[in-house]
Amino acid sequence: MGRISLDINVLLKPEYLPEETEWGEILNPQGVFPEREIVPLGPKSATVPDLKAIVCDMDGTTTTTEALCIHSLETMVRRITGRLDAALWEGLTPDDSPHIIGNSTTRHVEYLLNKYRPHIQPELVSDSFLNAAFWFFAFGRDARRVAEVADNFKRFTGFSYKDNKLAKEISQWKEQGRIPVESLIFWKARLLPKMEIEPGVSETNAAIDIYYQRYHEILNAIDNGLPITGFGDGEASGSSFISPMPGVAHFLSLIKGWLPENSQSLLPLLKPTEFDMTDTERSRSADMIKENWAYLSAHFRKNPLKIALVTSSIFWEADIVMRQLFVGIREEIAAWPLGERQICELQERFSHYEAVYDAFVTASDSHEIRLKPHRDLYSIALRQMGIKPTDFDRVIGFEDSASGIFSIRAAGIGCAVALPFHQTANHDFSPAAHILKGALPEAILRHRLFLKG
Ligand SMILES: [Mg+2]
Repeated sequence: MGRISLDINVLLKPEYLPEETEWGEILNPQGVFPEREIVPLGPKSATVPDLKAIVCDMDGTTTTTEALCIHSLETMVRRITGRLDAALWEGLTPDDSPHIIGNSTTRHVEYLLNKYRPHIQPELVSDSFLNAAFWFFAFGRDARRVAEVADNFKRFTGFSYKDNKLAKEISQWKEQGRIPVESLIFWKARLLPKMEIEPGVSETNAAIDIYYQRYHEILNAIDNGLPITGFGDGEASGSSFISPMPGVAHFLSLIKGWLPENSQSLLPLLKPTEFDMTDTERSRSADMIKENWAYLSAHFRKNPLKIALVTSSIFWEADIVMRQLFVGIREEIAAWPLGERQICELQERFSHYEAVYDAFVTASDSHEIRLKPHRDLYSIALRQMGIKPTDFDRVIGFEDSASGIFSIRAAGIGCAVALPFHQTANHDFSPAAHILKGALPEAILRHRLFLKG
C-alpha cells in the first residue's frame, strides 16, 4: 500500500478519468487475486467549496483505542513465540506501527508473522489457537466471529464444536463463566496431536483468532464494567482505554450546529496549543482562534453537517467502543462552562452515538479482504449519507493512519486530512491534503475546517 502517482497513465488512459489522475497501489491479503491492485484516487484538494459532510475514522481519530489493538496484537505474538513477559521480549517497537495500525487485521497479522517468523513455535500456535477457540465458543458474543473461529477449528482439528460431548462441556463453561483446567487438558490431549497449522493462510487465520480472543476479552470486560487485567502489574478500566481524542466533543457539537451562541467559553478547553503556525498567524492567534470559532459555530448552526463514522472494526466491537466513548463525551460536557440547561440539552443529544452519526460503517458491512486501504467502507458511508459523486469535493475525511488516508482518497474524497498521534506519527501520509499535528483543534481553530472563502 501507499505508492502513489504511478506512471499507469502511460499504459492505460481510461477516458472516464481526468488525465492528471493520481494512482495508488494496494497490497491485498494473502490468497486474494490480484496480489496488488492499482486504483485511482480522488483529486487532492486543500479546501472544500461548501462543506456538506464529514467522514471520520474511529480508532485513533475519534477515540483512543489504538493502544488496545496494539496490546492485543503484541499478546498474540507473545503467545505464539512463548515470550510471555517483557524480560523475554521487549514487545512491539515504533517501527512496527505503520504496519499494525489502520489496515485490516489480516494485513497487520501477516506483517507480524513475517517479522517474528524465526521465533514462532508451531506447537504454541496450535495450543494458543485452541485456547482462543474454546474461549470464543464459551464467551464470544459476535456470532460471525464465532462462526469464523468454528470454521478454522473444524479445518485444524477435523472436529466440530457442535460435537455432543464438546457442546455439552461448552454449555457448562458458559454457565460457570470459566473453562476448568482439566477440561482444557482433556481436549488439548485429544486434539493437539492431530493439528498441524502450516505457515500461510491457515497460520494467519489462527493468529487472527488468537489476537481477537485478547481483544474481545477486554471489550467484554469494558462492556460489563469489569476491570481489565493483564496490563503490566495493575488493572485498568474501560475509561482508561476508551476516551475521546482531543477536541472530539467540541468538534461533533460544532458541526452539528448544537453549540449555543455563548460557546466562546468552551475555547480554553479545546487546548489550541500544540500546532505549528506561521509568524503572522501566531501574532494574531488569539483573535484568529476566536474569529474562526465564532464563524464556524454560526455557520453550522445554520448548515449542520452530516457525519459518518467509518471503522475497520466489526460492528460488535465498534458498538462497545462508541458507547463507552459517549460516556466519556457526556462526562466531558458536564464540566463545560455553560448553563445547566444547555449542558443537559447537549448531554441529551449525546445520549447515544446513533443520534449523532448519519452513517455508521463497520467491517461487518463489508469483508475482511475489502477493508482499508480499499475504498469500500468510505464508499458505503458516502452512499448511506446520500452524497453524490458530484459532491465528493464537499466532503472532508479525517484519519490517523496511512491506509485510512489512502482509503478516503480511493473513495474519491480529495480533502483527506491526516491527524497523526504518537503511534502513527511515522506513517507515510503523502496522499493526505493536510497533515495536522494539532489534530481536530488545529483543523477547527487554525484552518476553519478548510472552508473556502
Ligand atoms: Mg485509525
